Amino acid sequence: MPNNHSSPVTRMAGSVAELRLAAQTARAAGKSIGVVPTMGALHAGHLSLVEASRRECGFTVVTIFVNPLQFAQGEDLDQYPREQEEDLRKLAGAGADLAFTPADEDVYPEGFSTFVEVTGLTNVLEGRTRPEHFRGVTTIVLKLFNMVQPDVAYFGQKDFQQARVIRRMALDLNVPIEIRMQPIIRDADGLALSSRNAYLSADQRRQGLALSGSLRAATQMFATGETNAAAILDCMREVFQAVPEIEMDYLALVDPDSLLAVSEVDADVVALVAAKVGDVRLIDNARLGDAFPS
Ligand code: AMP
Repeated sequence: MPNNHSSPVTRMAGSVAELRLAAQTARAAGKSIGVVPTMGALHAGHLSLVEASRRECGFTVVTIFVNPLQFAQGEDLDQYPREQEEDLRKLAGAGADLAFTPADEDVYPEGFSTFVEVTGLTNVLEGRTRPEHFRGVTTIVLKLFNMVQPDVAYFGQKDFQQARVIRRMALDLNVPIEIRMQPIIRDADGLALSSRNAYLSADQRRQGLALSGSLRAATQMFATGETNAAAILDCMREVFQAVPEIEMDYLALVDPDSLLAVSEVDADVVALVAAKVGDVRLIDNARLGDAFPS
């Protein structure tokens, strides 16, 4: 449905009742609803999802909620950047219609005891290092889907495994929402935008370029005809070895649907990397057949 925004103001809904009323009003006016789930500290990556929703839906809801359930003990829940005023300004600039900013106690009321768990896809990659993480993600995302009841939901390829897990959940649970994955937005030097980049010092930021550097090396090697996964992984590992300060977590070349490691690659295979720079955990990925920015 073509977009037809008359107001540059992003309204705010703090409660589920306000959200439902706004969504019902939009639907009654014949608008399709797009949702962009986020944890705030918005950057151009998030805003690209808002743009996609604006292009394709009549009413765009952005949810901002730092979801405690997807952080393990000792992770950065308390430090996670919270910049609500700035976020709302960015959303108004991007033309989002509604920002939904629920409180923790409204999302997880006393006695909360229902969880959504996707098996299989969550046992690998991020799921190995962060065993409880995806259960927290799928639980909040299904809750947000039920609250907003959108037609389309937008996720970034930046969290490739997350988008795959959510697509699986939607299929398995007959969720009548189209799941769309949008490309990764990067800084000019190649670093994938992330709210967590704000934690990096200038030196760490340079070290963090090992992630995108290893992906660039992998896509270049594939472009010159290499299809042996072990050879490509060796080349990616060398990029990390040149930056001893960085602690690599995993490097993988996987089938985009099963997320299982492959031994021979094709253009659809996805290279994924995760590493820690100081205390900051970064992730990135690239489809081997895509042109990687130089
Ligand atoms: P987050 O706030 O980190 O939970 O991210 C909210 C959504 O934005 C997720 O679907 C992410 O995959 C997506 N996202 C985060 N960083 C980027 C990026 N650099 N490019 C595109 N999408 C992104």
